[in-house]
Amino acid sequence: EPEPKPGGNVAFYCVETSARLCRRMKMLQALHTALANDELFLCFQPQIDANNHNVIGFEALLRWQHPEFGLVSPVEFIPLAETSGLIIPIGAWVLTQACQQMQRWLEEGFGPMRIAVNLSARQFESMDLYPLVCRTLAETNLAPHHLELEITESIAMQNAEQVLGIMQQLTDDGVMLAMDDFGTGYSSLSYLKGYPLNVLKIDQVFVRHFLDDESDEAIIKAIIALSQSFKLAVIAEGVETQAQAERLKALGCQYFQGYLFSKPLTAVQATLWLEQQQGLANETA
Ligand code: C2E
Ligand code: MG
Ligand code: MG
Ligand code: MG
Repeated sequence: EPEPKPGGNVAFYCVETSARLCRRMKMLQALHTALANDELFLCFQPQIDANNHNVIGFEALLRWQHPEFGLVSPVEFIPLAETSGLIIPIGAWVLTQACQQMQRWLEEGFGPMRIAVNLSARQFESMDLYPLVCRTLAETNLAPHHLELEITESIAMQNAEQVLGIMQQLTDDGVMLAMDDFGTGYSSLSYLKGYPLNVLKIDQVFVRHFLDDESDEAIIKAIIALSQSFKLAVIAEGVETQAQAERLKALGCQYFQGYLFSKPLTAVQATLWLEQQQGLANETA
């Protein structure tokens, strides 16, 4: 039997793993007090009409500013919030903040537009998502058609019956439903048939290289064709260049979201952005 070499790859791997585990555990603990400590805030990324470049709405994107960890990406902390169950109170807070901000903008005379809010599977599992949405809309005075809820294929996969029931109640009330990251999950096509969707979001992984990648372009064409057949709106995520926007428009994509138009903005920045976009139009109207 050869002697295990000290300081080899195995030991290095263990140190690395425990450091990462330690960070995750510290982060999870900190996440418990993030709401109470006022460390969470929303950013807003504009969504643009491909035809006239008008803003049609914003996607609300959650941010966590922690004194020790700095600005933590939702890609890192949303999974922690999901496994710990913290996504339930945090998700409710996001919904309220997002609806409140949109109602404020509408009252200030901006619009017509809507706010898109991301939902996690866990929020569908708790039976009271529908009453929560109703209560939030009532409390913030936002009309249902100004709210769009973004779900993913993984949500649709779990508890299909229950999810479908909640989605039906929501759309009956006029809330819009979007399928986020479309094409990256499983068995997308059956959801188009059974679910009351309004919008398909083309994931940025397909948009990133589609100008040089025929397979990505083929997927984008297929998603746009599906959206037309099922009479759904279609929005491309991650649009970063003019060339991408032009080609997407030629392919029939109706709406854009991406750094070409704007990065996610704080509420203050987004208001200034809206004033620049719509202020002139309002003055000359
Ligand atoms: P998502 O819902 O697919 O959101 C789009 C992501 O793409 C955002 O990342 C946005 O900043 C980024 N993005 C937008 N345009 C561009 C672009 O032109 N180029 C590139 N490279 N990226 C672009 P973000 O804000 O880091 O959010 C990541 C994910 O975290 C979201 O993906 C969503 O799944 C999740 N998330 C964010 N906020 C919430 C929330 O309030 N609740 C839940 N459940 N999930 C959230
Ligand atoms: Mg989204
Ligand atoms: Mg997405
Ligand atoms: Mg995505």
